[in-house]
Amino acid sequence: MTAAPEFIRPTNPATGEALAPVACTSSEELQQIVARARAAQGAWAGVPLAERAERARAFAAALTRDLDAIAGTVTEEMGKPIREARAEVKNVAARIETFIAAAGQALADEESVEAGIRMRVRWRPLGVVGVIAPWNYPIATPANLLVSALLTGNAVVFKPSEFTPRTGERLHAALAAAFPEGLVGLVQGAGAVGAALVESAVDMIAFTGSIATGQAIMRSAAAGMKRLVLELGGKDPMLVLPGADLEAAARHAVTEALRNCGQVCVAVERIIVHRDIAGEFTRRVAELARQVRAGDPRDEACELGPLSSQRQRDLVLAQLADARDKGATFLVAGEARGPGFYLTPSVVTDLKPDMTLARDETFGPVVAVQVAQDVDQAVNLANDTRYGLGASVWGAPGPDLDAIADRIEAGMVGVNRGLSTAAGGPWVGWKMSGLGYTRSVAGMRQFLQPQSQARRAG
Ligand code: NAD
Repeated sequence: MTAAPEFIRPTNPATGEALAPVACTSSEELQQIVARARAAQGAWAGVPLAERAERARAFAAALTRDLDAIAGTVTEEMGKPIREARAEVKNVAARIETFIAAAGQALADEESVEAGIRMRVRWRPLGVVGVIAPWNYPIATPANLLVSALLTGNAVVFKPSEFTPRTGERLHAALAAAFPEGLVGLVQGAGAVGAALVESAVDMIAFTGSIATGQAIMRSAAAGMKRLVLELGGKDPMLVLPGADLEAAARHAVTEALRNCGQVCVAVERIIVHRDIAGEFTRRVAELARQVRAGDPRDEACELGPLSSQRQRDLVLAQLADARDKGATFLVAGEARGPGFYLTPSVVTDLKPDMTLARDETFGPVVAVQVAQDVDQAVNLANDTRYGLGASVWGAPGPDLDAIADRIEAGMVGVNRGLSTAAGGPWVGWKMSGLGYTRSVAGMRQFLQPQSQARRAG
């Protein structure tokens, strides 16, 4: 942590201009914030769920009250179109009741009797949860974890991404105003501060970010056997098979490849289309991609803003150049524009397995299409990856399509729609896309320690 810079210096991706620097949290301050959170957690663990729920509702009300200011900060720091930024904040507020209901079920004791023993399983809070967040959904991603930890009786210490520190300040302010003093801590800084938080006296780390950082956290957390939830990257496939509604599938493909300028862990990254419909589907996709309204993210009509940083754009441009060198076809060729870190959409076909565009996560506005000769090849291509976050399958509805969904190695699968965690599903990755999960009753229990209490029956 001594290597941490004294300030982080965010940039407005729409203009390339520097934003005001934000001071990093020192090692001593971090220890104090964690200690304060631990001191506050003792009383919080005894607060009934009804009161915790009231405080969560107060947090949601604060988000709604400050919607424009919060969304404006998101857009300023990471370039998300203002309409999407507002939707992100609104969705967090709208989901509060679902979180409260899931927490209620997760906290309920479980009782059973066997061989003269009455067993009661209690669900106890872990203590202090460190929440380390990425920049791409700088409100929704940490808020889901923070609210889950708080509703289940834990204290939290939150480290926003170094690219979105003021957004982090705003989220923290909304929480701190609603929950008891000291219960919600905030630390600012880059990776070194994150690493110091993992090494500190926290009991659990709930992390969202890249696989490499997740692995570093796992190594460091091993010393204290700290509980972990790791939500990592994806390379989501979308299978388009004969019988699919091609218009709906093409719309989904373009919308979900380009949402948030493609900087989404569950973006559609690999469209795998059956050869019988490939020509017609690809034509529709290219047509829709050309219609996307790119421009200044502060503009209400904007659908595609800039990438979040110069580095992010360079990474995407390198993947596109590699694909071009190895023989990919560009139906639509993206162009880098400035000032700011703009890149217009690309539609690329004829992908080959050795292209980085086919293998590595692409955090950028790229619609990438591969053609499969048959269903088996489509499934094999979909599963030929170290990632396993989301996926979708599109085809004639019925048992055959359901059986294809069952063969996909991803934590979340949509059938003739995008993935969803509505109706109680967990947010979960398979393979290297994550460890543990969140949302849903099972997800809430990741923030709790089960305790078996045995008594004599009768
Ligand atoms: P990142 O791993 O670079 O950084 C994420 C956070 O970790 C930042 O706050 C960073 O400061 C911190 N960090 C960096 N090094 C650390 C260390 N050694 N110890 C502790 N903390 C450290 O990721 P990013 O570029 O900010 O985010 C993009 C990634 O996040 C993508 O791979 C994306 O797919 C993933 N993501 C996943 C989900 C999901 O739900 N699975 C959601 C959003 C984003």
